[in-house]
Amino acid sequence: MVACTGDRRFELTLTQDRIDELCRTPRCKAPMVNWAIVRCARHLAESDAAELVDQARCWGYARFEDLDRDDPVSFKPGPEADLLVKAAVATGAAEQVIQAFVHACFEDPDLIDEVYDGEVALAMRHALAREELRLHRAAAKETHRIRQEARVCAGCGGDFPFAYVEVPFPARFCSRACAPEPPTTPRTVASP
Ligand SMILES: [Zn+2]
Ligand SMILES: [Zn+2]
Repeated sequence: MVACTGDRRFELTLTQDRIDELCRTPRCKAPMVNWAIVRCARHLAESDAAELVDQARCWGYARFEDLDRDDPVSFKPGPEADLLVKAAVATGAAEQVIQAFVHACFEDPDLIDEVYDGEVALAMRHALAREELRLHRAAAKETHRIRQEARVCAGCGGDFPFAYVEVPFPARFCSRACAPEPPTTPRTVASP
């Protein structure tokens, strides 16, 4: 049974005494990735950059709760951040999503030395840099995958430049010049 309230839909599994909130993409029956990531993995790329950054920050804070602050290097990466980063590659926001996630999950690098002492600060920087690098690699891999699949630029129809790196514009375009301008809608609703 599917229950609706506003734009949120819930699948009620009555016999199992549990409720899974469904993906926010209309009519999709898959559950959300988790409480912080509000679409299924397949539809995550439909989120705009600001939504992905918000979700990355939210999930980063959740991972911070699990982080052993005395031993940050023991941090185990999960698949959720990778899903957010892959979705962000489609919109050209991978860098912002990675920064939002690692700053929430570990600490803002500008503040690490104020918050932690000596070796713990060092370990925190190391753990942050390692996860950041891992996510940048995931972004580069996804950029490559999208371009292999698309074969030619969605704007000019030309070939993609050969480079195994992430790009600061939607990966299906060959350059920023070919990509449409990102929407600049303000996040807050203007008061009347
Ligand atoms: Zn979905
Ligand atoms: Zn192009």
